[in-house]
Amino acid sequence: MDGTSLFSLPEGMLVEQIQITESSVVIEVVATVPTSCCPLCSEPSSSIHCHYCRTLRDVPCAGRRVQLLLTVRKFSCRNPLCSRKVFAERVPTFVEPWARMTIRYCQQITSIGLATCGKGGARLAARLGIQTTRQTILRRIMDLPDLLSGSILFLGIDDFSFLRGYRFGTILVNLESHRVVDLLPDRKADTAASWMRQHPDIMAVSRDRGGEYASAAREGAPLAMQCADRFHVLKNLGESLEGLLARHLATQCKQQTQATLDEQAPVWQPKRATRSSPTLLRLQQSRREERLAHYEQVIALRKLGMSQAAIARQVGIGASTVQSWLAAGTFPERKPREQGSHLDRYLPYLILRWKDGCHNMACLFRELAEQGYKGSYESVRGNLVRLLPEGRKILRDSSSKTSALAPSRQASFLFLRRPEKLRVEELETLTKLRQIHPEVDRAYELVQQFAQMLRTRTGEQLDAWLAQVESSKLPELQSFAAGVEKDKDAVRNGW
Ligand SMILES: [Zn+2]
Repeated sequence: MDGTSLFSLPEGMLVEQIQITESSVVIEVVATVPTSCCPLCSEPSSSIHCHYCRTLRDVPCAGRRVQLLLTVRKFSCRNPLCSRKVFAERVPTFVEPWARMTIRYCQQITSIGLATCGKGGARLAARLGIQTTRQTILRRIMDLPDLLSGSILFLGIDDFSFLRGYRFGTILVNLESHRVVDLLPDRKADTAASWMRQHPDIMAVSRDRGGEYASAAREGAPLAMQCADRFHVLKNLGESLEGLLARHLATQCKQQTQATLDEQAPVWQPKRATRSSPTLLRLQQSRREERLAHYEQVIALRKLGMSQAAIARQVGIGASTVQSWLAAGTFPERKPREQGSHLDRYLPYLILRWKDGCHNMACLFRELAEQGYKGSYESVRGNLVRLLPEGRKILRDSSSKTSALAPSRQASFLFLRRPEKLRVEELETLTKLRQIHPEVDRAYELVQQFAQMLRTRTGEQLDAWLAQVESSKLPELQSFAAGVEKDKDAVRNGW
């Protein structure tokens, strides 16, 4: 097998020499086609003007980088009418005129880029023996010709963010081919409308329920039918529901807090009273005896003429204690402990904050300190653990990673899903939630009805549903229903 077919080189290229190192293959190739056509007048010429060498990167060979040293020629154009006197030989299927890499090498980079991304592609390419940068990969992808989108009959439009929460663009999708047909730099109605004007075939526009894209479709594609897509309808319903649930959960939480405060208040006193339990008294007595023995030892050693430091070492107590005992003259009894702790008067506040959901110890401690609490951080933590039946558990939970979702949002997900698809524990939670208040239960029924309509595409029941919500006295759902009412045709078209 000759080198030309081994390396799949185009016809007329002769491999003259191959140098192999550990990581690369250098192939010297000479172009041997006897004639070449002038790029200007297309006249073939066989009159060689000179030779020169092109260095090209080519696809790797068995993991080694491949470099082609391609000797090509310059021909003289003999056509007297042509203004080009000298032209370089071209190998159109193999390498572009001024390129420094072969076409097949570029194609590999493009494929890697399309399958991965700039950075990932560069890493993968390096493993495959292709030397490139992420910028090159991205440039190759950007250079790809745009797909001819043809006429778009059903258009999907939505926003996306370049930078989450800050900068938005618009994405346009052909709903028949499910392909992205264009991206717009912002999400303004004007921009989208002028894009739609350039696509007069649009028959239907599926959009969110926001005003911008609705007015864009009115302006840019006035004949097209507008549909509010089901995802956004359901999303809006979920948000309204979340508001309703948040309101009821907050009320429930406040009630529970008050109940806990009422329940715990009498408990604090008995706990203090245990300080004078027989066990404690015995303990206090024996501590006093030990202390008295130390005191007598200190006095005896002092009479022997020992220094205070030596006495402290001998007895095993602090030097300052020795000093104060000697100065006192008689055995200093311990002052009785102050009844209650510094924390007592702050406890109701503390428990209230805890129940409100503030489980950050440092934050709670800071708040108490601002109110004048002089005790320790450990005391705050210790008391909460002791006083709240669920304190230990909550402390443990708050130290572990908890769900980032607000309870009302989690609850709204439960409300929107099909009950037959819920797990047992989710069903239990759902049942408990529905029992919070008759309003919540009613909201669940309405939300499920709506979701069912959406799934079964039974838009004819929409008016009856809207009427039910109207008379439901659920402000959150009523405001959702008012929005649907305004955009009713589009909502129904979407079903
Ligand atoms: Zn010519």
